[in-house]
Order: sequence, then structure tokens, then C-alpha cells
Amino acid sequence: MTENFERVALIGLGLIGSSLAHAIRQRKIAGHISGYARSEATRRKAAELKLADSIHQSAADAVRDADLVILCSPVGTYGALAQGIAPALKPGAILTDVGSVKAAVVRDVLPHLPQGVSFIPGHPIAGTEQSGPESGFAELFINRWCILTPLPDADPSAVEKLVKFWQDCGSNVEIMTPEHHDLVLAITSHLPHLIAYNIVSTAADLEEVTDSEVIKYSAGGFRDFTRIAASDPTMWRDVFLNNKEAVLEMLGRFSEDLSALQRAIRWGDGDMLFNLFSRSREIRRSIIAAGQDTAAPNFGRGVPKTQ
Ligand code: NAP
Repeated sequence: MTENFERVALIGLGLIGSSLAHAIRQRKIAGHISGYARSEATRRKAAELKLADSIHQSAADAVRDADLVILCSPVGTYGALAQGIAPALKPGAILTDVGSVKAAVVRDVLPHLPQGVSFIPGHPIAGTEQSGPESGFAELFINRWCILTPLPDADPSAVEKLVKFWQDCGSNVEIMTPEHHDLVLAITSHLPHLIAYNIVSTAADLEEVTDSEVIKYSAGGFRDFTRIAASDPTMWRDVFLNNKEAVLEMLGRFSEDLSALQRAIRWGDGDMLFNLFSRSREIRRSIIAAGQDTAAPNFGRGVPKTQ
């Protein structure tokens, strides 16, 4: 693989930033990786793990001379970061991000964008519930989708370079508008996280069932929600604050469907329940057929040796 960029700057070195660092290194996508992390602890860990060739205390120093700059911190930080790095961005550089919402990122970053810099928002649909610089791995993006949401006046050659960057990381790339991205992700990612956070909190607040019973019998289904609900609280706070409309729209539809299920249970409408559960099973099969999960039983965890 030929080096696509001379210098790539990663702003934020958590799960996504460190995974990008590993992928860029392993696949020789850039000559030099410069990294910025906010805390001394993360900078020290990143140096220990050799995530970047240079690690900086200031985001502006990290982006100097970079031809690709990737914002990899929570979306609520992008406005201030863009303002801080704007004077140091190289003319001709591409600025992108990995944030889980897109319209709000355009709103926050665009006002600070200097002339001659291409801003192409992006979102790799790949992640785990882990966070921090130790949690990254080079294979995270392989066979996952990365959505780019270039603005109508985006430079086509810059978009092409960024598409190639993500393909080099192992991803498939799709292009759509920021608004459409936010609607799609509201149902495929944001609402599932909200439901998981809510069910875990409902269980924790129950008085008739003790916390130790909830944990002891969690293999009945609850456990799988707790994995999603263990995701980074700052990241998810920022997602809900910045994709308000689409999430509220999907939550409205979800609540209506939940009421229909409630009615079916109350009136003993077994056909309705059976048909809905059968349709859901088909969706799971389609996800496996599309290579977005494995068909291994028990989510691939295997059977525990001791009960
Ligand atoms: P993470 O592991 O928690 O890492 C976040 C990074 O951002 C850390 O380096 C942290 O620095 C830094 N940071 C936090 N607050 C900051 C601030 N105010 N100023 C500057 N830097 C700050 O998070 P992540 O999972 O990599 O998520 C990063 C981005 O990727 C988010 O925008 C998220 O929406 C997006 N994303 C996440 C996933 C996922 O599944 N996790 C998937 C796709 C996209 P310190 O370590 O120094 O605190």
C-alpha cells in the first residue's frame, strides 16, 4: 500500500483515535502520525504504546503541517477544537472527524474553517463499549461502513482521497447528507443505546428484585443490554445533546410501537406477538448475511465452563 498522506494528525487518542493510529501504521497509510491528547495520562499511555510519531500537548501544534486532520474526541468538543486549530491548519489540508452525529458537527466546525481547507465530516460505524488509548486495535474498521457527509461544495478530489483513506483502513464507504446520517443513526445506534441505558437503570431501581438477583440471572437477556450500556458516558451525553430532533422522532415511533405491544400482551393477542417476533428474527438473519455480525450462538461468547 502506498502512503496516501505525508502527515496525519489525530486529535484525541481514545478508542477510535488509537484504532486509527494502529490501522495507519499497520497499513502504511501515512509517513508521520502526530497525536494530541488532552490529559497527561493519555499522552503518557499513547507514547508507551507508540501510537504516534509525535505527541503534542496542544491540538494546534499537532495539526501543523498535517495534510489530514481527524477529530477523534466527543462531538461536544469539536467547536472549541476547530477554533483552536484553525490558524495552524495547512492550506490544502483535509479536516475530518469521526463523530457519531453529523449535522451538529457541521454547525459547530464550519464557522471556524479557514480558506483553502477541505472539511469533510465522517463517521466510522465501528466501535466497542471500551474507551481510552489502550482499547484500540487496527482491525476495528475492517468490513465496517464509514459514512462521509461532504457538503455540496466539497472538493471532489479531497473527497476521493478521504474515501481511499477509509478503504485503506479496511472500511466500505458510503456518502450521504448529514441530516440523513443523523436519522439513520438515530434508529440504528442512538435509540438502541438509550433503550439499553434505560433498561439497566430501571433494573437498578427495582425494589422487589435485588441488584444481586439482576446480576445473577442476567444471562436471560439483561446482560446483552449491559454491554451497550457500558459505553462512554461523555460520548453518549454529547450524542443525545447533538441529535435531539432525530432521536425524539424515533423515540416517538418507538413509544407508539411499544404501546401496541403492551396492548397485545394485555388482550392476549398471540398472533400479533408471534408475527412481530418472526419479523425481528429475519432482521437478525439479514445482519449476519451482510457480514455485520457472526451467527455464533450466544453472540460468539461460547459456553461458560462453570455456572
Ligand atoms: P474515548 O475512547 O472516550 O476517547 C475520547 C478522546 O477524546 C480521549 O483521548 C479524550 O482525552 C479526548 N477528549 C475528551 N474530552 C476532550 C476535550 N474536552 N478536549 C479534547 N479532547 C478531549 O472515545 P471514542 O470512543 O474514541 O470516541 C471518540 C469519537 O468517536 C466520539 O466523537 C464518538 O462519537 C465517535 N465514535 C465512537 C464510537 C464508539 O463506539 N466508541 C464509534 C464511532 C464513532 P483524555 O483521554 O485525555 O481524556
